[in-house]
Amino acid sequence: MQIILFGAPGVGKGTQAKILSKKYNIQHISTGDILRDSISRGTELGLAAKEVVERGDLVSDDLMGGLVKETLSNMDYNNGFILDGFPRTLAQCTLLDEIFDELKIDDPYFIILKADTEIIVNRLTSRRLCTKCATIVNLKDLDGTKTCPNCGAKKSCIKREDDKDEVVRKRLNIYRETTFPVIDYYKEKYQLAIINGTDPVDLVTENIIKVLS
Ligand code: AMP
Repeated sequence: MQIILFGAPGVGKGTQAKILSKKYNIQHISTGDILRDSISRGTELGLAAKEVVERGDLVSDDLMGGLVKETLSNMDYNNGFILDGFPRTLAQCTLLDEIFDELKIDDPYFIILKADTEIIVNRLTSRRLCTKCATIVNLKDLDGTKTCPNCGAKKSCIKREDDKDEVVRKRLNIYRETTFPVIDYYKEKYQLAIINGTDPVDLVTENIIKVLS
């Protein structure tokens, strides 16, 4: 099963992708997670991307295309994969077509998660990320501590640099102007499914599973 999970930052792609990747035993490829991991390890990619990611801009198409190609080429995805956070520009769509052609991947599901801007801003500014296991947690579920409810690591749940209010608004503008047109590009190519991302997590998962089956 091959899934492209699409939607604005904060709409719940990461949360759903983690659930689906477990349920179907497929690889979760999150370009944001790969970049954050590279940044924290100080790799060449991390050094090149750090500033861009932290100020909420998009990393260059060339760098991202190369990253996704390398990840897919070196990965065992016999059962499939779920792509989260790519493509984000029309140029990345062309790059992904080339990668899929080369790796003989065809007919992925294209699932769009949708939510209103104000709900997203609220979610992003109150979410925390576990630096140990990458679980996404809402501030209200942390009970005043920074302990991860998933892996138990202490002081590990932090606010991402790019989840600060002004950066969030910038990321949403970029989504509207640069990323949203990706939908039109794929409308011609694949069957698209639109799912309401503001429903409770379990219901969103249930609705995605209905589409997949
Ligand atoms: P995410 O975790 O998907 O919200 O991604 C976090 C940040 O990583 C984005 O705001 C971008 O700076 C960068 N990023 C992730 N995926 C891409 C992509 N496909 N193209 C460009 N930049 C990306």
